Amino acid sequence: MMAQYLALREEAGDALLFYRMGDFFELFFEDARTAAQILDIALTTRGEHMGEPIPMCGVPVHSAESYLARLIKAGCRVAIAEQVETPDEAKARAKREGTPSSKALVGRAIVRLVTAGTLTEEALLEPRRANMLVALAELRGSIGIAAVDVSTGAMVLEECDPEMLGAALARISPSEVVVPEDWAQGPDAAIFRPRSTFASDTGSERLRTIHGVATLDAFGSFTRAMLAAAGGLIAYLDHVGRGNLPLLLPPVLRETQSGMAMDEATRASLEILQNSTGARAGSLIAAVDRCVTGAGSRILAEDLSAPLLDSDRIEERLALVQFWRDRPIERAQLRDALRAIPDLGRALGRVVAGRGSPRDLGQLRDGLSEAMRLHHWLTGAPDRPAMLDAILSRLTGHGALTDLLSRALVPTPPTERSNGGFIADGYDAALDELRATSGDARRAIAAMEARYRDETGIATLKIRHNGVLGYFIEVSARHADRLMAPDSGFTHRQTMKDAIRFNSLKLHEEAARIAEAGGHALAAEEAHFEELVAEVVAAREAIAATAAALARLDVGAANAERATEGDWCRPEITEDTGLAIKGGRHPVVEAALAKAGERFVANNCTLGEDDRLWLIGGPNMGGKSTFLRQNALIVLLAQAGCFVPAESARIGLVDRLFSRVGAADNLARGRSTFMVEMVETAAILAQATGRSFVILDEVGRGTSTYDGLALAWAVAEAVHTQIRCRCLFATHYHELARLAETCEALSLHHVRAREWQGDLVLLHELAEGPADRSYGLAVARLAGVPASVVNRAKSVLEKLEATREATGGIAAGLGDLPLFAAMRAEPAPASAEQQLADALQDADLDALTPREALDLLYEWKRAL
Ligand code: ADP
Repeated sequence: MMAQYLALREEAGDALLFYRMGDFFELFFEDARTAAQILDIALTTRGEHMGEPIPMCGVPVHSAESYLARLIKAGCRVAIAEQVETPDEAKARAKREGTPSSKALVGRAIVRLVTAGTLTEEALLEPRRANMLVALAELRGSIGIAAVDVSTGAMVLEECDPEMLGAALARISPSEVVVPEDWAQGPDAAIFRPRSTFASDTGSERLRTIHGVATLDAFGSFTRAMLAAAGGLIAYLDHVGRGNLPLLLPPVLRETQSGMAMDEATRASLEILQNSTGARAGSLIAAVDRCVTGAGSRILAEDLSAPLLDSDRIEERLALVQFWRDRPIERAQLRDALRAIPDLGRALGRVVAGRGSPRDLGQLRDGLSEAMRLHHWLTGAPDRPAMLDAILSRLTGHGALTDLLSRALVPTPPTERSNGGFIADGYDAALDELRATSGDARRAIAAMEARYRDETGIATLKIRHNGVLGYFIEVSARHADRLMAPDSGFTHRQTMKDAIRFNSLKLHEEAARIAEAGGHALAAEEAHFEELVAEVVAAREAIAATAAALARLDVGAANAERATEGDWCRPEITEDTGLAIKGGRHPVVEAALAKAGERFVANNCTLGEDDRLWLIGGPNMGGKSTFLRQNALIVLLAQAGCFVPAESARIGLVDRLFSRVGAADNLARGRSTFMVEMVETAAILAQATGRSFVILDEVGRGTSTYDGLALAWAVAEAVHTQIRCRCLFATHYHELARLAETCEALSLHHVRAREWQGDLVLLHELAEGPADRSYGLAVARLAGVPASVVNRAKSVLEKLEATREATGGIAAGLGDLPLFAAMRAEPAPASAEQQLADALQDADLDALTPREALDLLYEWKRAL
């Protein structure tokens, strides 16, 4: 056994080995130590290896999933070694091989690797989160990305430049990433796989075989880098599933320019799918999501992660939201119906991966029937938007399959299939017969009990059943003599403390009838299960399309629900570079305030060609960050096809969204925080275009006053003059206000505050004009800094301010700083001499005739 174990251990590589022994998965050696610590279960020992006791721990097979879930969460991978033969088979094999049968060891093999990115089990997956596995491959300077949600089979292929990889991965947010073994570009926790598996030709071939097509053209024109990544992905799935591939739907091509671009820093600072600590609570999606199905929430997360850039597609989504917003009664009915629908996509994923249960088949039956009912109901609805029609067309066409499943399955099939009992009566006459036989025999046994009581006169005689003996007759010890008599017709089987157990020929016969019929019935059910699975597998693409359509329906209705609840409006999407938000609110802050019984102050924001950059000052805690983010979030929501928290919103499509927060808030990051801030700011200056939208929150804060002001100044100027995009810039540097003198499309704003009876009142209201003062001391008092310290600070401040009046302050010298643009103006026109020298240099003397040479000389002389 040790030899078998060590061979499997070797094969498992860096994964923990779950070694099946009867009803337990056992772990040994280092694996046992690691697992015992993560799972907080007892570490024991068993036997010895090289003179040392072997550490061991184990988990029961029937509850293995919950332990697996915890190990996977802790970042482990687990190899499952199952018994692949029965003890009898092992004995027979031993006999064939000539080893004594007492030494026969049950054969075991690793049947599967459980990894974070390849899960299908309901218990191991979060219902509202997609679980993405990504493979990367590089070809001629381009990175191919293959991404699949193994739980539903949805697969996307795309390509990006190496410097955009971080942003792409931040958007996809994979649970696991696999890369070729010589990969050097991150992410840190990537899994290395043989280089040879990342080949575009095998990738293409595998995809064609899986989908039974001669060419992939119908799915999209994929690049070689994408196909190489797909090859690596499928080879990895093969590896972890030991040749058992999960559901893979036809790959979808994602165009690089199809969406609004957001980098990792922007996503993190806008807290789209998770807050700064990684939790869903407090994120944008938590404030927006009103989906009633897990699949709906997953689609919404995708929408928010990848807002669109195509106004037609945005309008399609908005029209669907509007349709449901205008029909509150039908919306409520729809949501009730959707709430009861099982997670079709994931049930399908399990069935296709060979891990389906009768319950999964039952879910498919119920979900598909309900989809068809919704189809029937909604087809009658007037004024349907285009997207609803597209959804409806995918909800139907499952009549034959649902009929079959309805006839075949009992109303609530069990999750365990080995005990049978899931095929309905009336589906298979032979099965009914077998069941009738064992029913008869059971009744015969019940009748037998009564008869034996009569015959023996023992009123307490019982016929019972257990797993070891099967059926037996039991009487108490003092009655046993009567049955012990040689001619009684009973044979003794077992003596217990208070009871004696017997058999009888008749009982044996009936029990054999039950066992035989039961065995045949189980085999029949198993065969039916396989047939039903085959039917489902054959219809997998249509089922997946229905699952996706139901999820879309949920998202549309949920966004309508959210819009109604918060009085959100339908944004108007335009192709210009304007932005006009009236009465905008921050959905997360508003929700938090509402909980505390406080009101959110709505604010307007209007940016356009001649007023592109708002510089926003005002006291700390005055609402600057909130204002910046709410406008970014409104743009994001609008382009994701959602209604937005505002009275009205007109949004010129944004191609790239950038959000940057000054370094002080970034302390957890490790690298010098100011360095991080500058690296991220540099990315804006390199990537933003005239159609982008940038929010800068206290950029430059992470360094000394002079450096910080200088950088903030230069960045604001570059965004204004060079990039010329829409930008909100919050800063506490008053000196920046002087930029308004030279930058014609920059305007000054501040969050209002008032001192009232010595206290600071923050109004959270945006107003035009520069901030009059910083109120820093008043904020300090508000925060509980002792009065003595605040008073001392006041006298220091008075001194500083007096000097500022006298010298003009730290920005005194900036009045005559040439404008940023001037520094990158075209080079001055060349002098006449220089032009002449250039012309001489360019002239090809060997090609000139003497006449032409003379003409040139005349021309040059004229030019001088
Ligand atoms: P700043 O960036 O100016 O320091 P924040 O935007 O962080 O200020 O806002 C500080 C707090 O003020 C927020 O946590 C919120 O409680 C409150 N606040 C911000 N904006 C508003 C608003 N528009 N209406 C009501 N309260 C607000």
